[in-house]
Amino acid sequence: MKAVRFFGHKDVRVVNDLEKPVPKGDEVLLKIGGAGVCHSDLHIIDEGTVVGTVFTLGHENAGWIEEIGENVEGYKKGDAVLVYGPWGCGHCKPCQQSKENYCDHQSEQAYGGGLGLDGGMSEYMLVPSSRLLVPIFDLDPVIAAPLTDAALTPYSAIKRSLPKLMADEYVVVIGVGGLGHVALQILREISGAEIIACDVTEEKLAFAKELGAAFTINSKDADAAEQIQKITGIKKAKVVIDFVGATSTIDLGTKVVSLDGDLTIVGLGAGHYQYSMNVLPFGVSMTNPYWGSRTELMEVVGLARQKKIHIEIEKHKLDDANEVYERMRQGKIKGRAVLVP
Ligand code: NAD
Ligand code: ZN
Ligand code: ZN
Repeated sequence: MKAVRFFGHKDVRVVNDLEKPVPKGDEVLLKIGGAGVCHSDLHIIDEGTVVGTVFTLGHENAGWIEEIGENVEGYKKGDAVLVYGPWGCGHCKPCQQSKENYCDHQSEQAYGGGLGLDGGMSEYMLVPSSRLLVPIFDLDPVIAAPLTDAALTPYSAIKRSLPKLMADEYVVVIGVGGLGHVALQILREISGAEIIACDVTEEKLAFAKELGAAFTINSKDADAAEQIQKITGIKKAKVVIDFVGATSTIDLGTKVVSLDGDLTIVGLGAGHYQYSMNVLPFGVSMTNPYWGSRTELMEVVGLARQKKIHIEIEKHKLDDANEVYERMRQGKIKGRAVLVP
């Protein structure tokens, strides 16, 4: 079968010689409908955040059950499912609470399919347990695949700040890419706060307006923080969610977040932050959330099925993976690219 494989630093190749896996025990084999292309793949490919192993990329996956191991119950061939991405041990307390993204054993194991283990940029994908599947009912797996990360990650980040996102408050979203464009829709649907969106191109800022941002700011402007403060006034933004995570965006966040606010850094842009009592307002919670829980993914499926959120999608073939990654490096993808085997 065909797959997009990571061989090492800046070495991604499409191969056509893999055996179709056979599921045993608790395992499930999926026929992949779509695999989303996440910027985290670029951190792996270009910066070596996962090293020392060869594997199939793709950690945002959806498809149809092809075959089940002898221990699997409750699923049959043809069922449409998402693959919950962060694979934990399945036994510890966070895993039992469905928060495998914070599994006690994360430091001892690969992060999941497409993140050290074989992922979904392939015709078929072996999932180690049916525990990691979330049914999508009438949704199309091609369109639904990015729900597993591009929607789940911002959803979980927003949910933890929800009590602060009231109608008289401002929220700043930095980065209107795969994750950010869904974050705007989730904020529009589940919070009351007015949205200020930041990106670096006029196209992305216009896109943000379409998705519910009341104001847009180009964060390349030297006075971006002052422009935001002009909108918020003295109270500043109660919540800032940074989908870039570069030193410059973290710096912007610290300048515009309010007293007792939340500064949430989702982007893995290798930025640095040095705490200083004089810079960070009192009471600010700074967090770096990772992905979301399995039950939160079910809630995300609910939002999509009710058509409250939609992923803006570009479809591409597995063969075009390297070109798609290059376009992502240049910030040229609108919404999410999905590889369709
Ligand atoms: P993407 O490439 O689709 O989007 C990034 C967006 O940020 C683009 O629109 C780009 O124009 C914009 N941008 C770049 N520099 C900017 C700046 N200085 N100011 C404002 N906007 C800027 O990426 P994505 O797939 O949405 O991922 C975003 C980040 O989140 C990546 O670093 C990725 O690795 C990370 N991520 C983290 C988690 C987690 O669980 N913490 C999960 C998924 C992705
Ligand atoms: Zn991702
Ligand atoms: Zn665990």
